[in-house]
Amino acid sequence: MPDSWIPSTLSALRGRHEERTLQPLPATGPYTTIEGRPMLNLASNDYLGLAHHPDLARAAAASAQQLGTGATASRLVTGDLTLHHQVELELAQLKQCPAALLFGSGYLTSIGVVPALMGRHDLVLADRLAHACLLDGAHLSGAQLRRFRHNDLQHAADLLAQRPAGSRCLIVTESVFSMDGDLAPLSGLARLAADNDAMLLVDEAHATGVFGPAGGGLTCAPDVRPHVTVAMGTLSKALGGYGGYAAGSETLCTLLLNRARSFVFSTALPPTVVAPALAALRLLRDDPELGARLLAKAAHVRARLREAGLDTLQSESQIVPVMLGTNERTMEIAARLRQQGILVGAIRPPTVPPGTARLRLSISAAHTEDDLARAADAIIQAIRES
Ligand SMILES: *Cc1c(COP(=O)(O)O)cnc(C)c1O
Repeated sequence: MPDSWIPSTLSALRGRHEERTLQPLPATGPYTTIEGRPMLNLASNDYLGLAHHPDLARAAAASAQQLGTGATASRLVTGDLTLHHQVELELAQLKQCPAALLFGSGYLTSIGVVPALMGRHDLVLADRLAHACLLDGAHLSGAQLRRFRHNDLQHAADLLAQRPAGSRCLIVTESVFSMDGDLAPLSGLARLAADNDAMLLVDEAHATGVFGPAGGGLTCAPDVRPHVTVAMGTLSKALGGYGGYAAGSETLCTLLLNRARSFVFSTALPPTVVAPALAALRLLRDDPELGARLLAKAAHVRARLREAGLDTLQSESQIVPVMLGTNERTMEIAARLRQQGILVGAIRPPTVPPGTARLRLSISAAHTEDDLARAADAIIQAIRES
């Protein structure tokens, strides 16, 4: 059979403890249930607990009543709503940029933006741990892709020095790394970009809403902002909804709406998705300390785990990894925790490099300090007993 390679590929994955399966939950949220058992959910990206905020739900319901459930066309045809422009204006303000452009998702943002900026004579320099969508964007652009060691400015500079004459260069990084929870050296990367006439793209998927003034992200730092060509991100994490965006200059956004294929050839986000994003942006504006309070909670959890001798890498964010090493041990400990009502991410290759399987805790503003402390103790104990 021409497709007999499919089952054999799957059994090879299973043999390496790398097979993925779906796990339906009756509902998402910081506290959920699996098979009737209450669960503390430390595995979602709803960092501010906004995915269940009544303001967002009301905005979604009202927009469906008033504007319908579909955008009916791409932005460039007849799907462009005033509402899209309102969100783009507020996103631009949040990111301290002149303009912003919405995309269908964070993934679609990256695979649209990178090829709009880069071609096959150009060089994309990406942090080794940059998200898959950034690498996919680089591949689609046809540019040469070189990866520098994680957060290693010297290595990035060395690779930059080898750039082909006359090529454009785009340095690509996340600001908060999704699987390690550490921060990129953005000041250094900004200086490197400025000194070498390179563009800089920063994926703020995990920083927006959490870091920076009123959750504007790490690209808002005064020594970074002027050198960032694109600050991109998602509406699906701290903003509690769905969709992606790229923020930058007016000319950048004009170029993107002409050239980014995932923008041009895809239907606009529906009102039911855009209206809650606006509600979320207003909540951030009304309570600029939301992110700081979340980071304080995460720091407590991290301190507890570190005191017990666990390796939480260089995490400085609401994402706290607990390094374990093998896939098998990671899966076993995650399963044990689940039996105790604690849901954590069990992260394995290819999401992380081989041999670095880990638990990934994402702390939410909606978790109580008590529950987080109990969870940290349960994690410590499960690891000791494994
Ligand atoms: C989640 C994530 C994305 C993708 O965003 P979606 O809106 O879920 O498609 C992109 N980049 C990073 C770093 C992410 O963590």
